[in-house]
Amino acid sequence: KFDKDFGQHILKNPGISDAIVGKAYLKPTDVVVEVGPGTGNITVRALEKAKKVIAIELDPRMGAEVTKRVQGTPLAKKLEVILGDVIKMPAIPPCDALISNTPYQISSPLIFKMLSMPNPPRIAVLMFQREFAKRLVARPGDSLYSRLSVNVNFWATCKHIMKVGKQNFKPPPKVESDVVRIEPLLGSARPNVAFEEFDGLLRIAFNRKNKTLRAAFSIKEVLAMCERNYKIYCTLHNIPIDESLADTTPVATTASGDDDMNMNVDDDDDNKDEAVDGDGMDTDEDDNDQDEDDEDMPTFFKELKEAGASKEASKTPSRNPKSKVALVVKAKVDKVLTGTGLGEKRARMCDQNDFLKLLLAFHEEGIHFS
Ligand code: SAM
Repeated sequence: KFDKDFGQHILKNPGISDAIVGKAYLKPTDVVVEVGPGTGNITVRALEKAKKVIAIELDPRMGAEVTKRVQGTPLAKKLEVILGDVIKMPAIPPCDALISNTPYQISSPLIFKMLSMPNPPRIAVLMFQREFAKRLVARPGDSLYSRLSVNVNFWATCKHIMKVGKQNFKPPPKVESDVVRIEPLLGSARPNVAFEEFDGLLRIAFNRKNKTLRAAFSIKEVLAMCERNYKIYCTLHNIPIDESLADTTPVATTASGDDDMNMNVDDDDDNKDEAVDGDGMDTDEDDNDQDEDDEDMPTFFKELKEAGASKEASKTPSRNPKSKVALVVKAKVDKVLTGTGLGEKRARMCDQNDFLKLLLAFHEEGIHFS
């Protein structure tokens, strides 16, 4: 009996289990982590190729099943089963390769957990629902382009490997699946910025992905966060706040500044995207990024997401900044947005290099996002 709540769709086509393991190009010295071994169809093949497989399984019945499957064979001593929820574990165990016929509920948190590892695996071969896989390989301007797409393409390279029809599973899921190969950038190739910083910036930018970055950074909660972090940064580094900058900030602004942009060419594009998606008429819903389903999202971003989800948020006039520091921070934010030339660009059109340029410019001004 398979448990749908655990996303249990067992691969019944051995050719696909073979292909998944084959596409990981395992070496005999590799330690593999498999998420959700189920009855062990992928696990046994990985055990034949690698030095060790650490199989993390939420359902104890399945854990027992995979253990039993190799019992009494030479593969048994290479298998370690860890019972538990991989997302709740402090970290994915260090490994050379990550393999999973991913339970669909944890697709997004699993990717984020892997990308944020300081020493991620060399390779990950993962099966996802097709819609999710498309988000991974989406490019700027695509309707499925999101915070997830930027992160994956910033911290790794990602390639679609094969399509898998639903008839290959027992029980068959509602939708088709895709296998992708993700190769995280390692060592000196890994970008030299903190994961939480880059992702923090993306959370702000994609909070309303069809709005300009200037609009995203005019939201009062965002400015307040920048101000809090700037004060901490100055204290930690013993930097005096240059209050003369405060004089360069206009006193009152409106947060969005681009409501009338709903009429412009870009928003026509948005409507086209929706028609392709067939997912409804509500532009604002589509505007809000879909990736914030990770459990340990910092409180600020939860609040920001809620604010972003409400149509009113971007229309709320930003507070009339009272403190000098608030004015200084506003001046710095404006300087970065103008200096990088990215202020009028929308998150949905920016690539990872745009976001990196923006992050480095913010850091230059002492503004941080985590
Ligand atoms: N690997 C098997 C196969 O391909 O035939 C089973 C794949 S099935 C889609 C997903 C498996 O992940 C199930 O065995 C399920 O119990 C397990 N699972 C679900 N959520 C999990 C979680 N949070 N952590 C670890 N395993 C999980």
